[in-house]
Amino acid sequence: MSVGARIEIDAPDISPYRAGNTGIPYVTSFDSGRPGPHVVVNALTHGNEICGAIALDRLFREAVRPARGKLTLCFANIAAYRAFDRANPNASRYIDEDFNRLWDEATLSGPRQSAELARARVLRPLYESAELLLDLHSMQYATAPLMLIGLAPKTEALARRVGMTELMVRDSGHAAGSRLRDFGAFADPQAPQTALLVECGQHWERRSAEVATATTRRFLAAAGVLDEDEAARILAEPVPPQRLITVTEAVTVQSDEFRFAAEYRGLEVIAKAGTVIGRDGGRPVVTPYDDCVLIMPSRRLGRGQTAVRLGRFAG
Ligand SMILES: [Zn+2]
Repeated sequence: MSVGARIEIDAPDISPYRAGNTGIPYVTSFDSGRPGPHVVVNALTHGNEICGAIALDRLFREAVRPARGKLTLCFANIAAYRAFDRANPNASRYIDEDFNRLWDEATLSGPRQSAELARARVLRPLYESAELLLDLHSMQYATAPLMLIGLAPKTEALARRVGMTELMVRDSGHAAGSRLRDFGAFADPQAPQTALLVECGQHWERRSAEVATATTRRFLAAAGVLDEDEAARILAEPVPPQRLITVTEAVTVQSDEFRFAAEYRGLEVIAKAGTVIGRDGGRPVVTPYDDCVLIMPSRRLGRGQTAVRLGRFAG
């Protein structure tokens, strides 16, 4: 199997940001000294998703500073990012385990050790202090960018204020473990803390870096840390109308041999209920209803992993 698209973008040198100013390596905070939210932009939850590192590198180079509140820029899975190898770019998603499946109390406070858990435990207080979090990701296949908004209505409201991306996906995450965007208060419908996860496009497409940069800009404008006039100008820039897909279920791999029936890339709409879209150890996997949308089919088809999510357009 090919690794996918050509690698059009370079992984930036982020060593200048190692020291930071927070006591946590690769975490830098800028405090305006004025009232306002604590806003965190997070890159490299997955070490091979370099569009987020590019977006943060640009913010640093442009010397973006909050006019209100506090802005923190965080590079998360540094160990995996350091292992990025253009000859084998998929290998550096993580070192020991997926950083984005660790975000529940039992896992974080439990006895297990891994490179990712060590970093997660160091970063936890930062994420807990965030009122608004943007987590920058990219995908295996080159499909339209998606905002993964979880289940809480507050997140859809924020995604609509940001105005990116065209597609919002309402979903509950993965059987394999809780995502950062669903950690603690972020998933509590009553709490004000809100997290957005954006999938900016294919991992190494130039366009993904542009989507990451544009989404971050609009997120900062919507979050209330920029000067009001500047924020209004940014949010007035035209964006296409947004559509919402509601995920009804995740297909979790049950066997040691899962195969898709076709080379799905994501966002295919399968017209008829009962269409076989794959086989899991011989058991057919079928679409449960008409006009079923396939979301982010995976090439990582190990037992317990999410093979694909199924959803429907909700408006
Ligand atoms: Zn990711």
